[in-house]
Amino acid sequence: MPGNLHAILAAGPILGLDWERFWTLTGWLANVTFSSRFLVQWYATEKQKQVTVPVLFWWLSLVGSLLFLAYAVFYDQHHVIIFAYAFSWIPYIRNLVIHRRHKNAEKSCSQCGVKSSPKAKFCAECGTRMPLTAP
Ligand SMILES: [Zn+2]
Repeated sequence: MPGNLHAILAAGPILGLDWERFWTLTGWLANVTFSSRFLVQWYATEKQKQVTVPVLFWWLSLVGSLLFLAYAVFYDQHHVIIFAYAFSWIPYIRNLVIHRRHKNAEKSCSQCGVKSSPKAKFCAECGTRMPLTAP
C-alpha cells in the first residue's frame, strides 16, 4: 500500500469507519471464501467417488476473487495482486452460465419425474427411455 494512503487511513476513522480494519476484514473474508471452495470441491469428489466440480465451487471462486480484487484495488494497490484477480472472474461467470444452461436443458422423466442430463437416453432412476431432443 502506498505510504500516503496508509498515512490517511492511520490518521483515524473516515466517515465514522475504521477503513484499515474494514479492508483487513475484507481481505480475510476473501481468503476464507476463496480457500473454502477447495474443501467444497474435495467433499463433492469424495462423496461421488469421482472428480467433480459442484456449482458452489464457482460461486465461491467468483465471490472470493471479487473480494480479493476490491481489496487489491482499494487497499493493497499493488499491481501484481490487482493483475492476479483482474480477469479471473471471467471463467467463473462463464462456468456459471454454462451450468445454468445445462440445468435448464435437463429432461424430466415422464414416468417418475426425475431430471436427467439433456444427453441422457434413459432415466437414471427408473430406466424409462427419454425423448430425443434436437441437437
Ligand atoms: Zn424415471
